[in-house]
Amino acid sequence: MIQPGAAILGVLGGGQLGQMFVQAASRLGYGVWVYDPDPDAPAAQVAARHFCQPFADQGALAAFCAGVAAVTVEREQVPLSTLTFCAGRVRLRPGLEALRIAQDRRLEKQFFQRLGLPTVPFAIVSEDRDHQSAARIPFPAILKSAQDGYDGKGQVNVPSASELPAAWEQLGKRPAVLESRITLQQEFSLILARERGGMTVFYPLVENRHRQGILDYSIVPAHVPENIPAQAHAWALAIAKALDYVGVLAVEFFLDSEGRLLLNEMAPRPHNSGHFSIDACVHSQFDQQVRALVGLPLGETRLLSPVLMQNLLGDLWLDDKIDWEAWLRHPQVKVHLYGKKEARRGRKMGHLNILAESREAALRTAESLF
Ligand code: ADP
Ligand code: MG
Repeated sequence: MIQPGAAILGVLGGGQLGQMFVQAASRLGYGVWVYDPDPDAPAAQVAARHFCQPFADQGALAAFCAGVAAVTVEREQVPLSTLTFCAGRVRLRPGLEALRIAQDRRLEKQFFQRLGLPTVPFAIVSEDRDHQSAARIPFPAILKSAQDGYDGKGQVNVPSASELPAAWEQLGKRPAVLESRITLQQEFSLILARERGGMTVFYPLVENRHRQGILDYSIVPAHVPENIPAQAHAWALAIAKALDYVGVLAVEFFLDSEGRLLLNEMAPRPHNSGHFSIDACVHSQFDQQVRALVGLPLGETRLLSPVLMQNLLGDLWLDDKIDWEAWLRHPQVKVHLYGKKEARRGRKMGHLNILAESREAALRTAESLF
């Protein structure tokens, strides 16, 4: 165990997830060094030190690893060579294999398939000659770049098989996964934390609403068919076990129009849809990330109150729809901002955690605030 109080932890990536990791770590007395090539990385504002270097800079990486007791990631899109370099020098959690799979949609989908877990119909498109076999899945479809996609970025609609070559061109002929576009009844996510040795804790299932590929809001408790939570738990646990996972793992699910649960994707880190846990649970997903990393016992995940997490996108700034007064005056609204200087459309600037007596009351409050 890395004793709380003085040790330095490292985080690769300095977005808002990294920022909230730093905040959780500092409550347990850990200092955090952040490694991110972006000079404006939100996590750098709160970190003890910011390595503002390219991920390929081995000298800087070596200095980073030499100063920290353990390293984690705030996003999976850190080059595998960087992760491998760090893993050779210092404790890296989650482990290399989990990160390798999670950063490539092709590997991720094949991994789910190997475990016998259902996904939407898909085909792997790594080169031109894959088009013919890929055209056999049901259309319309979505071509998703294998790497670097987030918030619906790196995704191209493919209405029919004949449009696949053009879509592939539009994606820059990058390796990709072609997925059938299904009618979604609902979307869920499940976040777990697992410590070395296998002890696992789960957060309650989250119900997610997306808009244009970006998470709009999340509600807990989720409104779900009876059999769904047990299935989601079993699948998420199977994934975590197969990876011998240590850390926080988020798993995204689809419920199709026939009420079947399907796996969408996983994230080897805290997740946007888990931000409710900061204000509505005994311990947050970031608290667990710290604990799993250093080897402290995991905390209780119990929900203290129904909650709605509303993302605040840059659009609100650009369209002049910010109402600090109303948000801050509301007794059950917690405002979280990431300190990003520039508002852009679709950019996550912060979020609100709206606590309420019930799921329905949380929805009503959210409606009244926007
Ligand atoms: P990201 O890495 O950007 O989160 P996702 O694969 O989760 O990528 O896609 C983002 C959102 O787009 C999903 O949450 C869902 O709302 C929608 N979506 C993705 N894939 C499909 C699909 N096969 N059918 C229907 N909707 C989809
Ligand atoms: Mg997603």
